[in-house]
Amino acid sequence: MPDNSDVFDYVIVGAGTAGSILTNRLSADGARVCLLEAGPEDYHPFIHIPAGYIKNIYSRKLTWNFKSKPTQHTANRSFILPQGRVIGGSSSINGLNHVRGQPSDYDGWSQLGNQGWSYSEVLPYFKRSEKRIGLGNDEVRGRDGELPVTDLDLIHPTCEAFIEGAASLGIPRNPDYNRGDLAGLGYFQRNIHKVLRYSSSKAFLNPVRRLQNVEVRTNAQASSIIFNGNLAVGVRYVRGNRNGAIHEVRARREVILCAGALNTPKLLQLSGVGPADLLKERGIEIQADLRGVGNNLQDHYGVRMVAQLKGVRTFNTMAQGFPLGLEILKWVFRRPSVLAVSPSLVHLFWKSSEQLELPDLEYVMTPASFRESTVGLLDKAPGMTLGVWQMRPKSRGYV
Ligand SMILES: Cc1cc2nc3c(=O)[nH]c(=O)nc-3n(C[C@H](O)[C@H](O)[C@H](O)COP(=O)(O)OP(=O)(O)OC[C@H]3O[C@@H](n4cnc5c(N)ncnc54)[C@H](O)[C@@H]3O)c2cc1C
Repeated sequence: MPDNSDVFDYVIVGAGTAGSILTNRLSADGARVCLLEAGPEDYHPFIHIPAGYIKNIYSRKLTWNFKSKPTQHTANRSFILPQGRVIGGSSSINGLNHVRGQPSDYDGWSQLGNQGWSYSEVLPYFKRSEKRIGLGNDEVRGRDGELPVTDLDLIHPTCEAFIEGAASLGIPRNPDYNRGDLAGLGYFQRNIHKVLRYSSSKAFLNPVRRLQNVEVRTNAQASSIIFNGNLAVGVRYVRGNRNGAIHEVRARREVILCAGALNTPKLLQLSGVGPADLLKERGIEIQADLRGVGNNLQDHYGVRMVAQLKGVRTFNTMAQGFPLGLEILKWVFRRPSVLAVSPSLVHLFWKSSEQLELPDLEYVMTPASFRESTVGLLDKAPGMTLGVWQMRPKSRGYV
């Protein structure tokens, strides 16, 4: 049994989007919380400069380096599946755009029997966590939360032309897509404030990190859950590299897994919770035969279309050579700059068929283009990119 310093009320695995906010909320009444994070501190400057996104999503040090298996449905190609491995998790490397789901999505979850997940029940939590700076109806938007949600301050003529083009096809401009109705188009709202990224850890974890009842352990990768019968009572973790010593931490109240969509089922499986045949095949002792663990994985496959443009300066030219120096200066003086924008500027939520009641497609547009098959390198010539994906994909995968 570990000494008292290793017994907490809650042990949370993963200091990403969910783990950071839970640590904030659960520690508020004095409960002792231990947060384990496999990755390092978020000291890398490209995490905090919004445009650093294009470098960090493929960083070997800050992500898990996961790849999908090649399948016949993807022409035998395998894709990189970026997942943050750092304080803030994927919110330290993600696309910074703030998008709530559609009310009917939550109501659908509730209808399936998930109590507490209807739109009217989750709305107070959205409002409580956000600090909306800009337009919004206070009945549905929050003003006093920890996470800043701001509007774009760099209006580009290509974006305006795209919006006008869509409007001429009958797609209306949506003044606030986070008010409970996604349909239409306009500029994304972002988790960027005063030219810096606001990850979940910056918003929710940093304010409580120094509290006596909160302990954050970085470079601490959970390797299995400790069970007492069917009750999770603690976590084993490895500190440092793969061959580091194994430590234990215990939870009086709850062990909470927030390790992300890929690592949470993986950790459960490593702990003997998952499909019995898979666990047997891997020589893992079975704690609970649960077929759902690692199955029904849903992700959106995004397609990007790129066009070269004439007669306009896009981010391609603004983010290279001398103009980049100018953009850096603007960023330093907190002026609108390409360094402080999210990777996608314009959103368009619309329907793939007139028969549909609600949008099922999300388009994202940006006045920049990347070299073919890469994200980190901009084309030399001016260009724009339009990405699109299904919001409710029908195919399913597994971990
Ligand atoms: C490239 C990219 C772009 C995105 N863009 C957007 C966007 O623009 N807008 C938006 O709303 N959403 C976006 N998302 C999605 C959003 O970031 C995620 O849905 C969200 O961050 C998931 O939160 P999470 O807490 O479940 O997992 P994560 O934030 O990924 O956190 C999981 C944490 O657990 C840690 N962990 C994993 N395994 C272990 C272990 N065994 N032991 C200890 N720690 C562990 C990880 O290192 C990580 O820090 C994007 C995601 C990605 C990857």
